[in-house]
Amino acid sequence: MSQTSSPARLAAVRSRIAAAAVADKRAAEAVTLIAVGKTFGPEHIRPVLEAGHRVFGENRVQEAKAKWPQLRQDYPGTSLHLIGPLQSNKAKEAVLLFDAIHSIDRPKIAETVAEAMLKQGRKLELFIEVNTGEERQKAGVLPRETAGLLRFCREELKLAIAGLMCIPPADEAPGIHFAFLAKLAAELDLAQLSMGMSADFETAIHFGATHVRIGSEIFGQRA
Ligand SMILES: *Cc1c(COP(=O)(O)O)cnc(C)c1O
Repeated sequence: MSQTSSPARLAAVRSRIAAAAVADKRAAEAVTLIAVGKTFGPEHIRPVLEAGHRVFGENRVQEAKAKWPQLRQDYPGTSLHLIGPLQSNKAKEAVLLFDAIHSIDRPKIAETVAEAMLKQGRKLELFIEVNTGEERQKAGVLPRETAGLLRFCREELKLAIAGLMCIPPADEAPGIHFAFLAKLAAELDLAQLSMGMSADFETAIHFGATHVRIGSEIFGQRA
């Protein structure tokens, strides 16, 4: 593995994001970099916070609960995004801990999150996760059921949805999935697109990503 420090890798990722955005005639600031610290302990995350980065992602509620309350206290202004699947029984905790959830994928979880937000007086930025590859084991609403879920959120729950998220199948070229998600978001009048990871974020930006979720390219390979 490379010996480069995480702040150096963060800087390299930032300039690649800026270059990809500019190549597409968009401002670098139009793309939010979510640094995904899952599996890495606070000692690995602190250097990235010290370098001034303030937007992070985690995929498990329990792990975030163990790591982030102290880090957030030490680095005010940090925002935390839940990018992994969410169970209803963790929704309350998730709403308390996170500022954004990228994995709304069924009416039940939308309902539980809406209730918790109301009760806690908190407003999170929410994304509907779409299973663009229609993979059996994968989280996310099916493409043809996305409009219905969005309508349920908007009309029944009065829940604001910011955008769509996807994780393309590992064994397929991601571009077609990013293009598909962008088209679906445009049809549904949704402005935000959470797509692109370490291996494919430049492609995602080309197709209009507003949020890229990058772990290993910043923190190194996960164990
Ligand atoms: C782990 C994870 C990422 C980051 O993956 P890398 O390939 O390490 O950049 C992005 N999105 C989700 C949903 C993840 O679980």
